[in-house]
Amino acid sequence: MPPSNSFTLNTIGIVHSCYKEKFGIPRQPGLVTEATARLELIPPYSRLDILEGLESFSHIWIQFVFHACMTENWKAKIRPPRLGGKTKMGVFATRTTHRPNPIGLSVVKIGNIYQENKKTFIDLHGADLLDGTPVLDIKPYLPYADSITDAQGGFFPAPAQIKPVLFSELAKSQCENYENLHKREITTLIKQVIGQDPRPSYLSEQLDREHGITLWDINIKWCARNDHFEILRIENK
Ligand code: SAH
Repeated sequence: MPPSNSFTLNTIGIVHSCYKEKFGIPRQPGLVTEATARLELIPPYSRLDILEGLESFSHIWIQFVFHACMTENWKAKIRPPRLGGKTKMGVFATRTTHRPNPIGLSVVKIGNIYQENKKTFIDLHGADLLDGTPVLDIKPYLPYADSITDAQGGFFPAPAQIKPVLFSELAKSQCENYENLHKREITTLIKQVIGQDPRPSYLSEQLDREHGITLWDINIKWCARNDHFEILRIENK
């Protein structure tokens, strides 16, 4: 039989995360450590024995589908935002979401593994995954094989610089109220997400323009100032 070039893959789980839209999600995992998410295994994979032993690892590889980009076409060359949107690179030299097969790969820190209401979950920390992301596979991260200390980072040698994030008086008190009410740390999450400068490159020169990013159930209004970002206010979704 000739090898098949078309495969059917099953979703093994779905991610529930603080990122409710693509805008604002960091470009790689681990950059926003305060991001919390959990992976729910779906039947027939929703069982604890399928995860036995995983608790002895700190990180996993997650292979997932870029389900929110699937209608868009891929191109051989793309403009990585990290290069200012000016230089084109081959799609396979980048981690763009617009690929021939819309499959993503993230290494993510894991927390508790547990069952709740007959559902099976793995807590995730610092994931770069949109809420609702379908997961195809998980594998333990093996430091001895996967951590290559002398690897070259090509044209992405280091993460982008983080800019300071300042809160207006209004935003500060709104965050405090939210934290008291929901028992969920939001100030650090906002600082980490906005500090990455999630703006598309064509807007990166613009100051004082209002942007909105949805995290959990709130919309954060913010703008870029000269040397920092300012959180203006928080609106309920
Ligand atoms: N670490 C992954 C993702 C890199 S691209 C990899 O290298 O394959 C990161 C971007 O993926 C984020 O900015 C976010 O907007 C996007 N993303 C995350 N989950 C997604 C999903 N389910 N559908 C579409 N885009 C998604």
